[in-house]
Amino acid sequence: MAAADHKPRLAVWKFASCDGCQLSLLDCEDELLRVADALEIAYFPEATRSQIRGTYDLSLVEGSITTAHDAERIQEVRRRSRTLVTIGACATAGGIQALRNFADIDEFIAAVYAHPEYIETLSSSTPISDHVAVDFELRGCPISKTQLLEVVSAFLRGRRPVTPAHSVCLD
Ligand code: SF4
Repeated sequence: MAAADHKPRLAVWKFASCDGCQLSLLDCEDELLRVADALEIAYFPEATRSQIRGTYDLSLVEGSITTAHDAERIQEVRRRSRTLVTIGACATAGGIQALRNFADIDEFIAAVYAHPEYIETLSSSTPISDHVAVDFELRGCPISKTQLLEVVSAFLRGRRPVTPAHSVCLD
């Protein structure tokens, strides 16, 4: 839980993803306004003009690691984050882009790009937890808006979020 002398600072980070999970946060509308009252939305490039500055009490991380640059960047995100929550299948499991993990990435690149020589990418797509410690994983593609609000509310109250233990697809 953040210190009481300031509003907890929220950051939303994007790695390899389609942005759909960040849109779930924007889709919260009225709820987001209430969250904005309890939190300082300090870094959320998808929604506001903001620059990386200082540390964050809660970081929501969307997307998987697919480039060497992102593998370095997630280390910085971890250093700046008191609590780090991964949101969505990309961040928690590698996402659809992890199909490359079972194929030849060079073949994929040659098939898709006119100038493959400009593409710098890793041969695998990996979840955030393969790179840094993660405090909580919220699964889904996209994530559930209700579950996301539960995660943020739980953070504000200093308790562990209550979300389904597994995907509804297994029911
Ligand atoms: Fe998009 Fe699904 Fe990845 Fe979320 S988990 S960023 S909705 S592909």
